Amino acid sequence: MRSILIAGNWKMNGGPKEAETLLKELKEKLTNRNLTTDVVVCPPYVSLQKAVTVLSNTSVKVGAQNVHFEDNGAFTGEVSTRMLKETGCEYVILGHSERRENFGDTDDVIAKKVRKAIADGLQVIFCVGEKLEERKAGNHQKVVMDQIRAVIDQLTEEDVAQLTIAYEPVWAIGTGETATPEQAQEMHLFIRNFLKEHWSTQRLEGVRILYGGSMKPGNAEELLRQTDVDGGLIGGASLDAGSFSSIIDIAEKV
Ligand code: PEP
Repeated sequence: MRSILIAGNWKMNGGPKEAETLLKELKEKLTNRNLTTDVVVCPPYVSLQKAVTVLSNTSVKVGAQNVHFEDNGAFTGEVSTRMLKETGCEYVILGHSERRENFGDTDDVIAKKVRKAIADGLQVIFCVGEKLEERKAGNHQKVVMDQIRAVIDQLTEEDVAQLTIAYEPVWAIGTGETATPEQAQEMHLFIRNFLKEHWSTQRLEGVRILYGGSMKPGNAEELLRQTDVDGGLIGGASLDAGSFSSIIDIAEKV
């Protein structure tokens, strides 16, 4: 049985001071709660240490939004898996559409990053999703399948234990547009069936498929109620402790 995962992608928001305020507020809202939902927050690199400290005696985990695939060296501006682990970070988001679009994260680069992060013991939230024109052309399933294939071809069955997939239709990210629950369920089921062609059903039981794209308290319930939606990757709404904790409340209920 898969437990629900609610992950917050802060993007380039929340320096250490802001992170401290937001996370203290979140912590207060989650006090004395015995959560069955797994919760992760992914602030910018500079706030990771602060997040780990503030959340130290809670069940909320901390993740990064990217990582390099080399251990060290002449890679100006980059951060390695070991560095992330040293801060106490347990998760990393990889393949986000904003990185694919703006920072040269090709399928090949993403595959290297996912493999490295898993090898070094991080939990990976691997993002896939089609653009609007791809959906309109009816190519959305093929686009997502190709993105997934590029990565899973590089993984072993054992790696699956550290893999979460986030389906994020690009047209729904930060736009206020959300996939309908039916569109989300259809794609999540498609992804799960595609994975079954690669790996044994038993291992796949644990692979969570999150939905991401303008999820907020007002639409979280209908999305999280879908059979193959195992949680959410939340951007904008994760920057508000009230909204984020409301989504966690909904996840606890469904
Ligand atoms: C995201 O960036 O992963 C995301 C889902 O953003 P938003 O919730 O703001 O659409």
